[in-house]
This record gives sequence, C-alpha cells and structure tokens, in this order.
Amino acid sequence: MKSAAVVNYAPVKGSVEIREIERPDIGEEDVLLEVVNIGVCGSDLHQWTADHSWPVNYPVILGHEFGGHIIEIGSRVKGWKEGDRVVSETAAVIDPDSPLTRRGLYNLDPSRKGFGYGVNGAMTKFVKVPARCLHILPDQLPFEQACLAEPCCVAYSAVVENSHLKPGDRVIVIGPGPIGILCAAVAKLCGAEVAIVGLESDRERLSVAAMYGCETIIGNATEWAMQRDGLGADCIIDAAGSSNTLKIALELVRPRGHISKVGWGPQPLQYSLDPLVQKNITLQGSFSHNWPIWERVIALLASGQLNVKPIIGGIWPITDWHDAFEIMHQGKVVKSILKPV
Ligand SMILES: [Zn+2]
Repeated sequence: MKSAAVVNYAPVKGSVEIREIERPDIGEEDVLLEVVNIGVCGSDLHQWTADHSWPVNYPVILGHEFGGHIIEIGSRVKGWKEGDRVVSETAAVIDPDSPLTRRGLYNLDPSRKGFGYGVNGAMTKFVKVPARCLHILPDQLPFEQACLAEPCCVAYSAVVENSHLKPGDRVIVIGPGPIGILCAAVAKLCGAEVAIVGLESDRERLSVAAMYGCETIIGNATEWAMQRDGLGADCIIDAAGSSNTLKIALELVRPRGHISKVGWGPQPLQYSLDPLVQKNITLQGSFSHNWPIWERVIALLASGQLNVKPIIGGIWPITDWHDAFEIMHQGKVVKSILKPV
C-alpha cells in the first residue's frame, strides 16, 4: 500500500513534489505513527526555495512538526501501546554515547539528524519514529494544536532556558514569524512587557501577535525600548532569519542586558560588535530543545496557558502542500498545517 508524501528531491529552488511511497519498515526500537497533522516550518519553506544552510539528505520527505497515533511497535519498545496519541521530538538520529547525549543535550549532538532533512519526515501518512522521541498527549489537546508543540519548544528554549526573564522585564522580539510570535507569547507567560517588531510587509502577522497582548511595532522600536528609563530593553529575542537584525538588537538592549538569538541566516556581519563589549551585553544562541522542555510545553498547551490557535492559518491536505507553503511564504498566514490523505 502506497501513500502520498511531500518530497524534497534536489538542492534546486522548487524541488518539492508529491510522490507515492511505501509504508516504512520499523526497527526494534521504533514505532510506526499514523500521522494526523503536520505543521509547516520556515525550514520546510527554506528547503523548498533552496535557500537553506544545512545539509539535506535528498530525496527526503519534509515535515518535523507532527503528531499521530501509534499503530505498530518495535520488539524492544517498552511503555507504549498501539493507539497512543503522541507527538514526536525532532532528533531522529543521535549518538547515544556522545557526551552531550549523556547529559540530556542530544539536541546539540553534532551527529544529530532531524526529521525532514536528515531522515524522512512526517508530511505523509506513516512515519517511522524512535520510541525515545515520543511524548504522550493529554486527551483534551487536539492534534492540530499538538503538532505545534515543536515550534513552542523552540520558543520556550529561547525565552525561558536561554533568557531567564523576570516579571516586569521589558522584552522586544524581532521578527513576527511563527517562532517570534511564540517567543512573545512565552515571554508574556513569564510576566514580561513585550513588544514585537516587524516590517511593513509583516502587518498581517503582527495583527496575530497582538492577540497575545503584545505591543506591535512596524519599523523602529527605539521609542518603546527607551520608554521606562531611557536605557533600553532588558532582553531582546532575535527571531528574524538574518544576521543584520543583531545590529538592531545591540542598539535596543540596555547595558548589561541580554540578547537571545534564535533566528539565523548565513550572511556575514558587516558591522562592529563593539556595543556588545561597551554595554556589557550577554549574547546567547538558542538552538532546538530537549525532553524536559517538551514535557513542560505539552503541559502549557494542555492547560490552555499557551494557546496556539491564533497562529493557525488553516489546514490543507498534503496534496495541496503548494497552496499551504505559498500562503505562509507570503506571510498571509503565520502557520499552515497539513493533513495526510
Ligand atoms: Zn520547525
């Protein structure tokens, strides 16, 4: 029995198409998931437009934000059963003996390979998942929201693990993409005063960000940054896909403030980092997430404290992947969601 899959087949712009693929065989430590929903990530779009900066194992099925039901269990898998409703982490392949993995930091293991670029992802009906990647879903959390646990984990990692916000902090998020908006939402949960900054072309996405109770700013955020005491914001979350925005972050942050950089782009910097030194700023990179972050984010989603409904722009069958990718690429929706056919 074959199923439709969204396949990225070459490092050339537009090299994505629907292919019919066989149901995968699972190993003894894997489960087979019947996928219910898949979130489209900015990285899926970057592989489609071929302006990504990571190695891709072509041809590969896209999709790493997903949940579904377990329908088959490997012989050595314990603690899971057929029918369990689950979401999956993204680190499909890791070295179990890496010193980082042994500390629980398998997300930073250099040999890590993720779904959707290193191994086949979830934009199809059946996906093979190592059991160690799974998290159980509370019954009340629907799959179309649960599949967005992954970008929520990226945001939680950037804002909580890598920023240490305090209630009352003034926080500026640069870039109103899905990660930026979720970072703003998590910063609000931490009790911060939050502004999110974008461009004129981000107007629609900023209106979604406003639903989370943040200030939205088009263009220059200096006035907001200086509002309390004229020294700048306590924390900047840089969630834009470009190196240039770090320059803005360095200007907006107060002396001894903090910048978390979660958005990335391969361009070299063309400006001085002297403000980093002179203002005694902490600059912190933030990449991916691990098991405790997933458990916490699922709890926040299940309790309704973190609500992803405002960012969901629609649900498309995977055969209409092009429409779903295009509308998100144009910024008309924050997040597209797919459903296998
Ligand atoms: Zn993602």
